[in-house]
Amino acid sequence: MLPAKPDILKCPHCGRLMRISALMSGDTFDMVQWSDTKCVTPMMESVSPVLKCPVCKKYFFYNSNLIIGECNTFNDSSCGHLSYKSLKEALRQLQPHGKDEITLRIMLLQGFNDHYGGCHGTLPRTDAPADERKLFDDNARCLLKLIPENKLFCAEIYRELGEFDKSLELLNDVVCAPRIATIAEHMRERASRRDSSVFIVAGCGECERTAIKDEEMIVYKRRKDIARTNIFKRLVNKLADKYINDETEEF
Ligand SMILES: [Zn+2]
Repeated sequence: MLPAKPDILKCPHCGRLMRISALMSGDTFDMVQWSDTKCVTPMMESVSPVLKCPVCKKYFFYNSNLIIGECNTFNDSSCGHLSYKSLKEALRQLQPHGKDEITLRIMLLQGFNDHYGGCHGTLPRTDAPADERKLFDDNARCLLKLIPENKLFCAEIYRELGEFDKSLELLNDVVCAPRIATIAEHMRERASRRDSSVFIVAGCGECERTAIKDEEMIVYKRRKDIARTNIFKRLVNKLADKYINDETEEF
C-alpha cells in the first residue's frame, strides 16, 4: 500500500478545506466481504461516501467535483469514515433520495451490524436497545422498498430482520451464478435455523467486526486511481450484483 499526497476537498456548505487521504496503490490483501455487503479492505480503504465537515458539522455526499487540488506534503488526512451515531445524524440532516438514500441506508444497516450484528466482535441482536432495533427495522424496510430487484440482498435483509420464511421464499427465486450459489446456500442454511447474525461470505474467516467508535473521523487510506470506481460505489450501484460479478474471484 503506497500513500499519495492527500487531496484537498472543499466543504460544499462553508467552504472550509479538508485533507482527504489518497493512495498511489493498494491491494485486496486481507479483504473481507460480509453478508450485509460490508466490505473491509485494510490495504485499500476508500473515502467515505458521506462526509462530515469538522468546522460547520454539516454532512454531505462525497463527490470528486469537491476536490480542488492536492496537498504538497504528506500531511495527516482522513477518509472521513463516520461513526454509527453520525450516520444516524446524517440521515436526519440530509434526507436523501435515490441512490444517495440507498447509499446512506446501507451504511446505516452496516453501522447497526457493527454493534449488534451478532457475529464475532459484535453484540447479539437481542442486546440492541428497543429504539435502536426499531431504527434498524425501519431502515431495513425502507431498503427493501428501494431495491426490490436485488433478491439476494433482500433475502439477507429479511434474514437480519428475523423474517426467515420470507428470506427463504426469496432465496428460492434467486438465480445464482455457480460460484455464488454457495453464498445463497449459506444464507439459506442460516435462515433455516433462525439465525439472523451477519457472516463472512468471502475472505479471512478470523476477521472481527468492530464498530467505529470515534465520533468524528478516522484515518483511512484510499487508492487514488480507483477513487471514482471504488468498491463501495460499485456495491451501491450493483448491490447484490456484486456477489455475481467477476470480482468475487479475487478473494
Ligand atoms: Zn463546512
